[in-house]
Amino acid sequence: MIKYSIKCDDCKFNFDSWFASSEEFEKIKKSKLLTCSFCNSLNVNKSLMTPNLNKTKKKQAIINDEKIKKFKEIKKNLKKYQNFIEKNYNYVGNNFAYEARNIHYNKNEKNFAKGIFGKATKKEIKELKEEGIDTETIPWINNKEN
Ligand SMILES: [Zn+2]
Repeated sequence: MIKYSIKCDDCKFNFDSWFASSEEFEKIKKSKLLTCSFCNSLNVNKSLMTPNLNKTKKKQAIINDEKIKKFKEIKKNLKKYQNFIEKNYNYVGNNFAYEARNIHYNKNEKNFAKGIFGKATKKEIKELKEEGIDTETIPWINNKEN
């Protein structure tokens, strides 16, 4: 079975119709049995594209565009946030958990005043939290990525 999208040239009505094969479609059309289901005109033809499928694809493309746009926006905001952190906090690299404890227990006044940022594992963050040290995690964008 083949589904054709049929278009009426007289009233511009579009409708779908099923045929056993493309030959059958031609046969029916030649014997003037194919008529517009709206105005009964014989002036009907296959349209080249299936409109529904096309619409779905277009919609999908729009959704993808929006997703990319949103992602770029989030990335831009993260970047701003990142720049702010880089400017205003001391980078401690992998020593984050260690330095966070130092601050918490008042062992490093310099870092305490400025605040720190760095890398920590999930386990370290959990341990810090258990000690009452609050941390904030943000996804970090590598500068090389752009
Ligand atoms: Zn028609």
